[in-house]
Amino acid sequence: MSHVTDPRDPRLGHGSDTEPVPQNDAYLVLSEDERARGFIRPVRRSYVHTACGTVTTMSQAIAETYARDPHFYGSTYCASCRMHRPVAEFVWDGTDQVVGS
Ligand SMILES: [Zn+2]
Repeated sequence: MSHVTDPRDPRLGHGSDTEPVPQNDAYLVLSEDERARGFIRPVRRSYVHTACGTVTTMSQAIAETYARDPHFYGSTYCASCRMHRPVAEFVWDGTDQVVGS
């Protein structure tokens, strides 16, 4: 799995899934320069899928992208369901704070 900053990269996936799929080959992140401009949320590495209760841990680059721009992603991956689901179905691990808020 790699990180890209070009939203037109053909390896990116889009939207949510309704049946299990592997993770995408690439995920979009904000550039290091953009992330260096400052975080408006804590950098959190793990979230809980409220539908199944499973914790999924993400890469540092994706965690920093969420922290810089909480609305950057519309969907995110659950390692147990093996689906990208709307961020509203997830809370940050150890909190009741909805991902993307
Ligand atoms: Zn799940």
